[in-house]
Amino acid sequence: MGEIKKIAVLTSGGDAPGMNAAIRSVVRAGIKEGYEVYGVQRGYHGLLRGELEQMNTRDVSEILQRGGTMLHTARSKEFTEEAGQQKAKEILEVFGIDALIVIGGDGSFRGARDLSKLGVPVIGIPATIDNDVACSDFSIGFDTAVNTGLAAIDRIRETASSHERCSVIEVMGRNAGFIAMEVGIGCGAECVLIPEVAFDLEKDVCQQLLKGRNMGKHHFIVVLAEGAGSAVEMAKTIEEITEIETRATVLGYVQRGGSPSAFDRMIASLMGIRAVECIAQGRFNRVVIDREGRIQDIDLEEGLSMKKTIYPGSLGAVDTLF
Ligand code: ATP
Repeated sequence: MGEIKKIAVLTSGGDAPGMNAAIRSVVRAGIKEGYEVYGVQRGYHGLLRGELEQMNTRDVSEILQRGGTMLHTARSKEFTEEAGQQKAKEILEVFGIDALIVIGGDGSFRGARDLSKLGVPVIGIPATIDNDVACSDFSIGFDTAVNTGLAAIDRIRETASSHERCSVIEVMGRNAGFIAMEVGIGCGAECVLIPEVAFDLEKDVCQQLLKGRNMGKHHFIVVLAEGAGSAVEMAKTIEEITEIETRATVLGYVQRGGSPSAFDRMIASLMGIRAVECIAQGRFNRVVIDREGRIQDIDLEEGLSMKKTIYPGSLGAVDTLF
C-alpha cells in the first residue's frame, strides 16, 4: 500500500443522530493528518454515480448538533451485486481515493467488507439507532433515539393516567429489542415485548395487566419493539381480553430525528478520530467500536461474525419493578 493522500467518507443505511458529528470528526481529523477528505453523497448509491466532493474544515461547521446526515443516505440494490461493487471500486480509483470510511450499520459494513475484498481499504463506524451492530456496545444514534422515545412516552403516560387507560407504544429497532428494553425500563413500563424473548399475549401481557389493576394500578404502558408485533393489533386484543380501554401509538420516525445527545456527540467525535488513526497507522478493514467504555477497533470480518444479546440484568428488571 502506497502513501495515503485522499480518503472518502459516506453515510449509509438508516440515518442516525450523531452521523453529522462523525462526519465532522473524520473531515477535521483527516485534514489534520494531511489528507484530502472527500464526502460521498447518498451512500453507496451516490458512490456509484460519482457523487464525491472534497470537503474542508469549514464545510463541517455548525453540523455537530444537528440530527440526520449532511451527506444524505440511501439504500442501493445495485451495490449489493458484484458488478456494482466493481464499479464502485473503479470510481474510487478515478477520484484517487486511497481509503473509504463507511458510517452505518451491519448492512453497510457487509458492503464495505465486499469492497475490501476487491482491494479497497475500508474502515467502519457504527451508526444506527437500532444498536444492533454486534461488535460495539453502542452505535451512534442509539442513545438519542432512546431519550427521544422516553420523552414521548412520558407525555403519553400523562394522558394514559388521566383517562386510566392502557397504552401500547411501538418503538423502532428493526429485528432487535435494544431500544424497547432501554425505553421500557426508563419509562417504568408494565410490559416490554421484544423479538428476542417469546411471549404469550394472554398470559404474559393481559394477565399481568389485570394483576396490576388488582394491585391498584389505574394505567398501563406496554412497550413493543417493532420486530415483536403490531401495536394496533395488540391494543385491540388487550382491550378485548382485559376490558381495559387501550390505545396504540407507533412512535415511528420521530425517534430517528433530533439533536444528538451528549453521549452520541462524544462517541461520534472519538470514533471519527479513531477511524482516521487506523488509516494513518496502516490498519485497514477495521470497525471502530465502543466496548467497555473505550473506543477501540477490531477486524471487520470478525466484527460481522459476532452476535449480541440483550443485557440479562435488564430482562428481569421490568417484572421486579412492576
Ligand atoms: P440500519 O441498521 O440503520 O438500517 P444498515 O447499514 O444495516 O443500517 P442496510 O439498508 O442494511 O442498512 O444497508 C445499507 C446499504 O448497504 C444497502 O442499501 C446496500 O447497498 C449495502 N448492503 C447491505 N447489505 C449488503 C450485503 N450483504 N452485501 C453488500 N452490500 C450490502
